[in-house]
Amino acid sequence: MTNKYKHIFGPVASRRLGRSLGIDLIPFKTCTLDCVYCECGRTTNKTLERKDYFSPEEVLGELKDWYDKGGEADIVTLAGSGEPTLYKSLKKIIEGAKEITKLPVCLITNATLFYIEEVREAALLADVVMPSLDAADEKTFKKLNRPDPDLPFADYLDGLKAFCEAYRGKGRVDLEVFLVPGINDNEDQVTALSLLSRSLKVNCVQLNTAVRPPAEKDVLPIPREDMEKWARYFIPKAEVIASYHSAPLKEKKEVNEEELLETLSHRIMSLEDLVEAKGYPKTETEALLKTLLQKGSIHSRTQDGKEFFYV
Ligand code: SF4
Repeated sequence: MTNKYKHIFGPVASRRLGRSLGIDLIPFKTCTLDCVYCECGRTTNKTLERKDYFSPEEVLGELKDWYDKGGEADIVTLAGSGEPTLYKSLKKIIEGAKEITKLPVCLITNATLFYIEEVREAALLADVVMPSLDAADEKTFKKLNRPDPDLPFADYLDGLKAFCEAYRGKGRVDLEVFLVPGINDNEDQVTALSLLSRSLKVNCVQLNTAVRPPAEKDVLPIPREDMEKWARYFIPKAEVIASYHSAPLKEKKEVNEEELLETLSHRIMSLEDLVEAKGYPKTETEALLKTLLQKGSIHSRTQDGKEFFYV
């Protein structure tokens, strides 16, 4: 349904959010960070410059078209292949999305721009905010998240604290912590991250690791049992979200090539991810992926013995 759109994609099944309709506000890969684990690959435009990369009318026009044509979802999620808070008219998009769809809005963000008041004000309008925090100090932040040189860790942390304080009672904050072997999977870092998450009073902490092919090939996933061990360092215990298995949206009879290509242009996915998220039949999807690979319409990368596909 959404394959003719440039900014909206899905809905895809999310265990955390239900049927989530994505809005991508930022050109591929424009971000304040260049995380070693990023599943979208290396950041090609690392910046702190906030601007309207596309007009709000263009983005909201697509959403209105989707809605008017009977589009259905449980939530609208601002996410994608870059950092959504780099979009200057973020507030206008959140307000517009709520007005058009009457659905709750989720903001998935690396939270690095929360030190800017205008960004916090916009984010306060979201119903669910999923910020990231992977490092407890500047040195680890630089090594793992490779920030824009003008982005000090102290500003990032102060901004996140100010946001959580102002947002309390307004909506849900699910903090994502990404663990990378040899960088932050040690007792000092995890303990410090646990203390920070408690001081932020977030609703829950979700632990992730590189189960999808990361920007840097030598970044490996942390084994499940170790993730469970680190999860117990958090109070309450963190949730390990790395290998999730969600129910299909609704099983479809056939796989749609255009829709599949559109989905893979926003996110790298395995065959199992596609079957789960889109409800496609497995055998037909596998066959189509092979054909598209042969034609060169998609590419694949292998992580931990599993093949992932992308446009
Ligand atoms: S993981 Fe998120 S914050 Fe990190 S580089 Fe990728 S898009 Fe940016």
